[in-house]
Amino acid sequence: MSRIHSLSPRLANQIAAGEVVERPASVVKEVLENSLDAGATRVEIEIEAGGSKLIRIRDNGDGIEPEDLPLALARHATSKIVSLEDLEAVGSLGFRGEALASIGSVSRLTLTSNHRPDGSEGCAALCEGREMTVQLRPAPHPRGTTVEVRDLFFNTPARRKFLRTEKTEFNHIEEVVKRLALSRFEVDFSLRHNGKVIHQLRGATSTAERQRRVAAVCGPAFMEQAVQLETDRGELRLWGWTGLPTFSRSQTDLQYFFVNGRVIRDKLVAHAVKQAYRDVLYHGRHPAFVLYLELDPAQVDVNVHPGKHEVRFRDSRAVHQCVFGALHRALADVRPAVDSPAVA
Ligand code: ADP
Ligand code: MG
Repeated sequence: MSRIHSLSPRLANQIAAGEVVERPASVVKEVLENSLDAGATRVEIEIEAGGSKLIRIRDNGDGIEPEDLPLALARHATSKIVSLEDLEAVGSLGFRGEALASIGSVSRLTLTSNHRPDGSEGCAALCEGREMTVQLRPAPHPRGTTVEVRDLFFNTPARRKFLRTEKTEFNHIEEVVKRLALSRFEVDFSLRHNGKVIHQLRGATSTAERQRRVAAVCGPAFMEQAVQLETDRGELRLWGWTGLPTFSRSQTDLQYFFVNGRVIRDKLVAHAVKQAYRDVLYHGRHPAFVLYLELDPAQVDVNVHPGKHEVRFRDSRAVHQCVFGALHRALADVRPAVDSPAVA
């Protein structure tokens, strides 16, 4: 064994990238989350060749000051939290400060941004080489940010080999965009693949517009066979749409559960849903739903996994009861009458 030495910044970032950048869709997720955290009301996503050739995301958010561009690309640098207390009540989608550094270490990344409302002071940054030094140059850009990721995994052949077909990779990207489009109704999303418009979703504020977006994402048949629900228990608010048993699926592909605007997968929630549907669905069939749980951010720990799609609830029983109760009530009309005397 040779002597101990420090890893070069690029290698350290590449190792971290192993956790957060699994495939093109993970890049799209991280970059889009940044746009949403920056308060963008419009995001344009352009993909070429399933994302392995190009991922370009442009937003009209707050933008980044030129002096901050190198930091945006550095590991463990974030504008979103300062202290451990902040982490405990984090409201932004990002907070780890490692996405751009990780992506930059396994692709050719250019970050172009402008934080001025009048559009002056645009600046582009790209990072290269073992030390990940950042080069800056002036570049015109309207207020907001564009992240361009070319040739993902060009320098990590092992990862590149794991990429599936263009179509499969694009499907994963589309899924990420759908989730985020459902998580932020008020934001315009457009998605193009190889020059072709795949989704063009206008910001939705009224209930009718929201329903249209859900129908565009989950298919009109879901909306036609879904019950709208809303419960407010003070600390917990749950609302959204849940599919009638007539719209059951053979897979869990149309199940969207958001906690404070973040899409999550959670065993406890899955269990509550399963129980609520137990006597109305055949074995092996799964419900479809788009549900939003809102609670005090301090009641949920989001720092469980680098991908941030797992959470831990402080009062998991209350969450279980809330989800089960709301779905059970929503399905009351379709539940077969019980033979035994009714118990409230
Ligand atoms: P995190 O999101 O965890 O803070 P990232 O590596 O994803 O870490 O981003 C680093 C920083 O770069 C962010 O904290 C933010 O200040 C800035 N940033 C990244 N993307 C954007 C964007 N689209 N608009 C404005 N600022 C951005
Ligand atoms: Mg981020």
